[in-house]
Amino acid sequence: MNIIIFGPPGAGKGTQSNFIVKKFNLVQLSTGNILRDEIKKKTQLGMEIDKEINLGKFVPDKIISKLVETFLSNKDYKNKIIFDGYPRNLWQANDLDKLLIKYEQKIDLALNLKTDIEIIKKRITGRYLCNKCGKIYNKYFNPPPKNKDCCSDEFLNKREDDNMDIAIKRFNIYMKETSPVLDFYKKKKLLKEINGESSIDQIYKEISDIIAVIEA
Ligand SMILES: [Zn+2]
Repeated sequence: MNIIIFGPPGAGKGTQSNFIVKKFNLVQLSTGNILRDEIKKKTQLGMEIDKEINLGKFVPDKIISKLVETFLSNKDYKNKIIFDGYPRNLWQANDLDKLLIKYEQKIDLALNLKTDIEIIKKRITGRYLCNKCGKIYNKYFNPPPKNKDCCSDEFLNKREDDNMDIAIKRFNIYMKETSPVLDFYKKKKLLKEINGESSIDQIYKEISDIIAVIEA
């Protein structure tokens, strides 16, 4: 089974992907992670990507396509992929269709974690990291425990990228780019909407139930 998971930055997409990967024995294809890996490994492609990013450009769709193809052509990953952060636009969605045909696979499910900007604002601004144990908390949704050696105010750091303007900008870009892609999968009757404002456990349960039905 191949799954796509959609949701604006801050919707908890990464967290849910991690859960699903473990539970259903899938492989996560996060284009962001692959891009960072390629750059780190200093491959030919990695250096190309690095150059684009340093020029302040988006990574071209053609490069993303090559990276996705390395995943789809890997027999160990066949029908076991969860796509996270991809496809991001219609070109990528159409390209993915072609690649899926080429490697005799298909998408079985597209999940959309529908989340309002107000919730995302709270998730982002409320996020704290304990600099002693590395746990992440949220002032609104998941406050740190009161009686623990660490995780008290003196150890909690706000994450550096937790900037509201950036968050709003990212949200708006995401919505604009991804709406047509969501329609694309809706027309194929593959799209399932999940209320991204529920608790992490509730969302996980809903997703698990949907996948279990498809798997059955
Ligand atoms: Zn701690």
